[in-house]
Amino acid sequence: MTPQSDLLAKLSPSSINPNNRLVKIKPTLQIADDQFPNIYTAGDVADLEDVKTGGAAWRQSEMCMRNICKMITAQNESTATATTTAAGKNESKKAKQDLKLETHATMPPQILLYFGVAKGVAQLRLFGWIFVTARDFFLKRFFTYNILATRAWGWLGLTLSEETADL
Ligand SMILES: Cc1cc2nc3c(=O)[nH]c(=O)nc-3n(C[C@H](O)[C@H](O)[C@H](O)COP(=O)(O)OP(=O)(O)OC[C@H]3O[C@@H](n4cnc5c(N)ncnc54)[C@H](O)[C@@H]3O)c2cc1C
Repeated sequence: MTPQSDLLAKLSPSSINPNNRLVKIKPTLQIADDQFPNIYTAGDVADLEDVKTGGAAWRQSEMCMRNICKMITAQNESTATATTTAAGKNESKKAKQDLKLETHATMPPQILLYFGVAKGVAQLRLFGWIFVTARDFFLKRFFTYNILATRAWGWLGLTLSEETADL
């Protein structure tokens, strides 16, 4: 499968790995191009060691979201504190430099595989590097009818009741 990185390649050719067409990234998941600190990459197209699964893409994209929020908050705070004085400008510049973004850690190779309605099989990490392969009985709460869409609605501020969540 060819990663769909052509669009970004036009803007930032140096951030595309020529060997596999994946997007090269920094540990913060910003693309590896200092010209574009506001562009993040997550999921299958990212040149990471994580196994390419929906779970890994989900986890990476949540981290991108948290880092983007930190950048926006820092920007807002620095705009609020920046004054026309040299001291104010320096303080605002320092606040931007001190901004601590989260860094990515490789996810253990885990996968949830659905088959049928609210049924599936999974390989999950128990602890350390000990894994378990489990079927739906053990994992009932993971294999929801709406394939975890409830969590996505939660991000948009909508809490579904238990009854509607499993429709
Ligand atoms: C057959 C199959 C079964 C799988 N089963 C599982 C599983 O059971 N569990 C699991 O965890 N993972 C599974 N995966 C892997 C999982 O689907 C992917 O890891 C996950 O979807 C990656 O998410 P993503 O958002 O990075 O990419 P995608 O889900 O591929 O989303 C990328 C989106 O970008 C769009 N796009 C591409 N180029 C452009 C463009 N130029 N302009 C606009 N839009 C564009 C595409 O149309 C697509 O909608 C499976 C994959 C396959 C192929």
